[in-house]
Amino acid sequence: MGIPVYISRVPRVQDLPAVQHGCSVCRNVTPQRVQRRYVSSHVYLLPMVSSDTHHLYQCTVCGTVTDGPEPKGSPSKPFLHRFGCFVFVGLPVLGLIAYWAVDSAISKWQSQNRMAEEQAAAAEKARQEQAQREFMAIVNGAKTALDESKKKCFVPVNAALGSFPEALVDLKPKKPQNASALEGAGYVIVSKKGHIPIPDEKHFGKQACFLKLPKEVETAITVKMPDINVGYDATVAKAKQFTAEANAMTAPAVMVATEHVCPDKRNKCVGAAVWMSVPDKKILAVVRVEKPVEDGGRGKDTDALATLLRQETAKW
Ligand SMILES: [Zn+2]
Repeated sequence: MGIPVYISRVPRVQDLPAVQHGCSVCRNVTPQRVQRRYVSSHVYLLPMVSSDTHHLYQCTVCGTVTDGPEPKGSPSKPFLHRFGCFVFVGLPVLGLIAYWAVDSAISKWQSQNRMAEEQAAAAEKARQEQAQREFMAIVNGAKTALDESKKKCFVPVNAALGSFPEALVDLKPKKPQNASALEGAGYVIVSKKGHIPIPDEKHFGKQACFLKLPKEVETAITVKMPDINVGYDATVAKAKQFTAEANAMTAPAVMVATEHVCPDKRNKCVGAAVWMSVPDKKILAVVRVEKPVEDGGRGKDTDALATLLRQETAKW
């Protein structure tokens, strides 16, 4: 069932100004009334187009009516009779086209905008991931530098330690020829279960081949981001500084190794410290101290051994 389209054709008569025109009957130029006649086609009562236009001339002298051309300079047909189709069909269509053009331009702009935003977000994400990779490389690099430097540092130290013919506690005491050469000797822990604490004295230096990873770098490695209280820049600076320190770490020229037996066969605590020149594995000095067992060889005994070692070497 289609929608009925109501079309009507309406005859129109339009009076035009009189003109001077030749009359075939009067055989003269006479004043003539002019009418324009045409058919206006309507769709649903809306004028669309006009057709069948012709002009009638009537001689005012003899009344003869003839067809003629459109007089020059005559007024045109009413606007809607000429442009109705354009007004009622063309304009809405143009409006639709304009609407569609504007709408599609807007959606294009919106999708371009969205794409730009997505690209910016992706770029930002990539930048952050890159920064994260660089950060982790720096903090992990600090730990790697420490591990490798430690390994290298311990090669000559272990070689020197391995050259002892017997347990350190069984070595005979020996006074140094040149005590000043022992100052600040690198401390080496031999006993893995309970060692003698580093005696606080000039002949006992810092622990050899030992550096402690800074806490903020350790935290950053664990949680994979800088400690919020330290921040990115400070953590990176600390890690780089520590990496340089670790890389610079070398085996000490003179090391001091301590060992203890507590209790020994005689039920005493025995502690020994041995100074050795690392490059040539030469024993420079040996100190041996003894004390009764008080704490089953635990903290109180090892602390006391450290004090005795300090007292003994302070005499040099
Ligand atoms: Zn006439």
